[in-house]
Amino acid sequence: MQKIEHIGIAVENLEEANALFTKLLGTAHYKVEKVEGEKVATSFFQIGDAKIELLEATAENSAIHKFIQKKGKGVHHIAFGVENIYEEMERLKEEGFELLNEVPKEGADNKLVCFLHPKTTGGVLVEICQEKKNG
Ligand code: ZN
Repeated sequence: MQKIEHIGIAVENLEEANALFTKLLGTAHYKVEKVEGEKVATSFFQIGDAKIELLEATAENSAIHKFIQKKGKGVHHIAFGVENIYEEMERLKEEGFELLNEVPKEGADNKLVCFLHPKTTGGVLVEICQEKKNG
């Protein structure tokens, strides 16, 4: 893995959370994006080389909705940037980690993403993501 790409935070209300994190970080979010497949609305803040991703559920059956119901709002996942998500998924599988999706999914921010089951990663929901190549 190359770097911490972003930290995902589950929020109840994206607008309120944007205002709060703008105050906290001293910088405004640079984009808002809906990911239909994941049933979330996201916003992104740039902090040095890494980002903060706020996630609001857009449907009752969204993983973010379920997460907030179970654990409350707060840190949801840590995302590591990788050069080649297919190779990294293969490596992690061989190491015994459980992948939540067997094929990379379309994520926000022009990324291919894969999540690892927290039960195999010490209770931390881990995302690996790769920048989509253009074309
Ligand atoms: Zn993420």
